[in-house]
Amino acid sequence: MAEGKETNMGLRPVVAKFGGTSMGSAKAISQVADILGGGQAVVAVVSATSGTTDKLILLGETAAVSGNWQEILNGLIEKHAAITTELGVQVNLKNLWKELKESCEQVQKKGELETYMKDRISGFGERISSNILVEVLKKNGFKAVAVDAYELIFTDNNFGEGNVDFEKTNKAIAEKLLPMMKSGVIPVVTGFIAQSEMGEYITLGRGGSDYSGAIVAGALGSSELQIWTDVDGIFNFDPRNEPRAKVLPKLSFKEAAELAFFGAKVLHPKTIKPAIAKNIPVKILNTFNPSAPGTLVTNEEEESIKSVTYKKGISIVNICSAGMLTAPGFMSKLFQVFARAHIDVDVVATSEVSVSVTVDNGEADKIVEQLSKFSTVRVEKGMAIVCLVGAGIIHDKLALKDLFTAVEEHDVSMVSQGSSKRNITFLVKESEVQEVAKKVFNKFFI
Ligand code: ASP
Ligand code: MG
Repeated sequence: MAEGKETNMGLRPVVAKFGGTSMGSAKAISQVADILGGGQAVVAVVSATSGTTDKLILLGETAAVSGNWQEILNGLIEKHAAITTELGVQVNLKNLWKELKESCEQVQKKGELETYMKDRISGFGERISSNILVEVLKKNGFKAVAVDAYELIFTDNNFGEGNVDFEKTNKAIAEKLLPMMKSGVIPVVTGFIAQSEMGEYITLGRGGSDYSGAIVAGALGSSELQIWTDVDGIFNFDPRNEPRAKVLPKLSFKEAAELAFFGAKVLHPKTIKPAIAKNIPVKILNTFNPSAPGTLVTNEEEESIKSVTYKKGISIVNICSAGMLTAPGFMSKLFQVFARAHIDVDVVATSEVSVSVTVDNGEADKIVEQLSKFSTVRVEKGMAIVCLVGAGIIHDKLALKDLFTAVEEHDVSMVSQGSSKRNITFLVKESEVQEVAKKVFNKFFI
């Protein structure tokens, strides 16, 4: 191992998680190595190179039907070989590729991609990317070791989205990582994967590397969890649709959760739970613009309106049941239907005679039949939710007035104020949502 430069070892290391685009090319990976070499006591948690997890799943599915999976595997091998060549590092990936090939052969023989196999195969991307980053760090003169989260994070047997056993996990993380850090080593941990109760590889669900980052940060009592991505932070509006959208310097966990829920894809609420539980600040940063200040997400909350967001592809399910609505048990019967179908409900509005509920377009059809057994159901597809997020929104008497002035030319339905008191949501036609959201943005932020 190369002689490491001394890094400043704090007792509360920063956990820096790098997503798929941050690991997506040789250039990006060298950028990541530079960020990690910045002198902080740091644990890295990495995603697979961008697009790799999708390809791995396709690989498994193709093997299951005896398709030409070798071609997909070769594509993956070549893609990573090109990256390591460009980086000028030698990475011994032979054993990993061999293991992956054997897994595919097993799947082909079985003629079926069992859930545990799907998890095993889809987790190879992180095992590979972590090893590549380690070699780049060593080349830069640091001590670094690839750590397979199979040894750190323990779950049940719920393949596809393992549920973490935090007691066992926290202990393993502290025991494995702290000594490494004390000897000046940067641990590079695989995101996304863990060990199931039966000892198989398991995944934490798609996009699970953020969650891995938060789990590691929580276990180490980190001073900060950094989520390095390809945007400057969380914005007050979708920056792809509005050049005047600005990065929010600060946001509370609860506001971030509202934003994620209603369309902004930056931080998923489940993801940051372990960080919230230990009150660890989360910072969203841009690998490709590392000097930008980013967005800091903490427990603290400033009472102000933060952001407008929207979510397309929504259906309104209108449920009528003459006279029944106020009957005891009706609502619980209603929501049992949604629960049994594992459907998340976004917005709910009730009147004397009807209940309106919003769900993703694809979900509506799954419940109409069940609901029709005891009510009259009408589904409106092609809708969108617009959501104004910010603590203190409800104390701001002018906010509602301003909001409705901004959208007065549009058909607005299901206006609701989240029980969290941090959002006002309403539904409009999907075809109008961009225009409506922009009007709201102009009213509140320009
Ligand atoms: N590589 C995994 C995925 O694509 C996990 C992640 O990137 O967070 O879902
Ligand atoms: Mg990702």
